[in-house]
Amino acid sequence: MSTHIPFVDLKAQYQGIREEIDAAVSAVISETAFIGGKYVKQFEDGFAAAYGVSHVVSCANGTDSLYIIMKALGIGPGDEVITVANSWISSSETISQTGARPAFVDIDPVYWSMDENLLEAAINPATKAVIAVHLQGQMVNIERIAEICAAKGIHLIEDCAQSHFSTFKGKKAGLFGIAGSFSFYPGKNLGAYGDAGALITNDAALAERCRMFANHGALVKHQHKIEGINSRLDGIQAAVLSVKLKYIANWTAQRQAAAAWYNEALAGIDGIVLPVVRPETEHTFHLYMIRAQRREALMEHLRNEGIDTAIHYPTPLPLMEAYQYLGKSAADFPVSAGMMNEILSLPMYPELNREAVARVAAAIRSFYAK
Ligand SMILES: *Cc1c(COP(=O)(O)O)cnc(C)c1O
Repeated sequence: MSTHIPFVDLKAQYQGIREEIDAAVSAVISETAFIGGKYVKQFEDGFAAAYGVSHVVSCANGTDSLYIIMKALGIGPGDEVITVANSWISSSETISQTGARPAFVDIDPVYWSMDENLLEAAINPATKAVIAVHLQGQMVNIERIAEICAAKGIHLIEDCAQSHFSTFKGKKAGLFGIAGSFSFYPGKNLGAYGDAGALITNDAALAERCRMFANHGALVKHQHKIEGINSRLDGIQAAVLSVKLKYIANWTAQRQAAAAWYNEALAGIDGIVLPVVRPETEHTFHLYMIRAQRREALMEHLRNEGIDTAIHYPTPLPLMEAYQYLGKSAADFPVSAGMMNEILSLPMYPELNREAVARVAAAIRSFYAK
């Protein structure tokens, strides 16, 4: 019986940096620097330096960071914000939380992310912003989307929860719009040991409004200029993230190597479509997603071989029960709807070795040979 290949292996990563992590966590505890303070500041500064951005505002998770950005931009009732049909619900539920109305555009059939050619037609006088989502680690055509937003005078927000350090023509995800939103959920490319998030921006005034809103509407204790929320990064998560930040470039390179092994080992199999990397971009492979015919049967075959897989995401957002009130149907999102029964994410994490990739590929090949 060969060993189990998990979808993500956070234990393997911890083993590699155990001493540093344990020391960092223990320092936070012995200094009781639980909320805010030195370790949070250290991570914000470190992430700002690594990213080449002026302001990093940390918060509780990558859902809050989207919400905080929109609230700080003054988005609310009567406004509309456009995002993409295939994403995690954070990308759209945060729009509704502001009181604005979410609108969706379909993905494109080649790169499987927001179709920039559909964006202009989706913009109307109520549209205040676009949330572009760089899914799987793959950049959308952010240059074109930024052009459209600029021409229409609307904000561009980037959801970078799956694309830490991905680049488009050498420029990092999150630096194209007014602000970028990051999740450090444990399974993300840069992950904490609990919930964590941050937003980045080069706009000092926006950064200040975000910081204030995330901290009960106060920049100075007891001086609440507005009502806000409580969305804080805690010291332990910040300390873990500061340790991990040192390794993210290596881990990204390892993910990219694993993706290259997959590409080679899966080439020429009838029944699947492999991911295509957008030209002039760096894909950071948060996910290695394929399209697979007879997906459910393939997943079961892989499960029987001890290989875990996942689906990102089984239902396009506008077709979820939560958005029934929008009155949309599969015909409105033909690409997302057409792919939803085929998309499949294969095991992907930095420590995934070549033998494991070969085993996954062999199992897929044997399935389609039947
Ligand atoms: C993970 C994720 C989020 C939300 O992040 P949390 O930290 O879990 O709140 C938002 N958008 C996308 C695309 C994500 O993958």
